[in-house]
Amino acid sequence: MNKLRLSVLGISLCTMVALGQSEADIVNQLNLDSLVLTVNEFSGEQSTEVFGNTVTILNREQANNDTAADYLKQKFEQWDNLTITDQAFNANGRNIIATQLGTTNPDDIYIICAHYDSVADYCADDNASGVATILEIARILSSQCLENTLVYALWDEEENGLQGSGYYANLASENGDNILGVLNIDMMGYDGNNDNHFDIDVRDFGNSLSMSDDIVALLSTYDFDLNENVVNPGTLASDHSRFWDEGFTAVLIGESWETNDQTPYYHSSLDRISTLNLPYYHELAKLIMAYMVSKGGLTGVDSGITQTESVLTVNETGATYQWYDCDNNTSIDGAVFQSFMPSEDGNYSVEVTNGDCIEFSECISFNTLGMDTFLESEVQLHPNPVFDILNIEVAVEETTTLKLYDIGGKLVLDSEMKTNPSQIGLKHLSKGIYLLEIHSGKKSGMYKIVKK
Ligand SMILES: [Zn+2]
Repeated sequence: MNKLRLSVLGISLCTMVALGQSEADIVNQLNLDSLVLTVNEFSGEQSTEVFGNTVTILNREQANNDTAADYLKQKFEQWDNLTITDQAFNANGRNIIATQLGTTNPDDIYIICAHYDSVADYCADDNASGVATILEIARILSSQCLENTLVYALWDEEENGLQGSGYYANLASENGDNILGVLNIDMMGYDGNNDNHFDIDVRDFGNSLSMSDDIVALLSTYDFDLNENVVNPGTLASDHSRFWDEGFTAVLIGESWETNDQTPYYHSSLDRISTLNLPYYHELAKLIMAYMVSKGGLTGVDSGITQTESVLTVNETGATYQWYDCDNNTSIDGAVFQSFMPSEDGNYSVEVTNGDCIEFSECISFNTLGMDTFLESEVQLHPNPVFDILNIEVAVEETTTLKLYDIGGKLVLDSEMKTNPSQIGLKHLSKGIYLLEIHSGKKSGMYKIVKK
């Protein structure tokens, strides 16, 4: 032991996995399993929990859809950054609406919407498909700080004369809401001939034509496997037309009525998830997500995580942090710095608060790849507390790297031990607590250093 280290050719043992956060990363988080689970639950194929009760949501007809409404409300309530409105507009009608306020331009509003009522049992395509897409987009985007306001709106009584959307659009017009785009989804899961055609229904109200152009442009930006039919004049038979009535910018996205490839099970209890084209449904949902994230506008806050074998570091600096254990959904005591060293393998995420803005990172699977921690006897650090020179001795015969983090998780020293024992000078650092990560061969450890 204690061999002289001469190697400057040492291979870096730290595999850096950088998970940045572009719009494309957000789009790719849209998960088909998650969509399918929601469609199954919302169309009564499987039971679910709603406010503590096990229920089957088979019926979403207007006088019988309070459980469906409660399901939607419960979904929105479990996510961050959302304000929920349970908007009753007649004896049976309830719109369920979640608003995510823009941090830069709160008065600039984009709406993504779908009706949740139905005319028969199941009705997976019409319109559990649209509802599930909105919930999936809300799940992902509510973890992000966005520049503009997004409204996730689920209408009741569409099948009874577009009543829920009509009520909302009328109020919005009276209030002078600055609605910049309404993206309505109604029936988006059926593609019987696998030609990937879908409709964008548009008319010349507000900036609806350029909204349609923006959506078409995203097809090539992302190389989506979809073929658009821009239908102008588009149908008036869904909720977007209530926004056209008020002169707002709006379009409908859905499966291809234009090529007569809409579900043959329309408005019947044969409209079940087994009849949907899931790859098509997933692709179309990602297109809608791409539009919403581009209009929502990601702020500079970066909750992407960089991972080494022993440390997770979130990209955003100078913020407030709290790390979470995703496996049991609890915050981790004392894990309140930019970097976090898990004591065991698992799934972790971090909440980043910067000013008014709170973001949650994705859950990162942390696996030390067979790394062991050092035995207590293998690492000697003295003196600690330290004024100037810290002596480090590591009882292993492999290239050893040292990384020193300040209490905020910022990397302040990154070096390789050239000798063993070795010394590092800390005189230039301000007083406080630091974390020293030592990494050698298949072993690593994190040590608290007190600088006096
Ligand atoms: Zn419908």
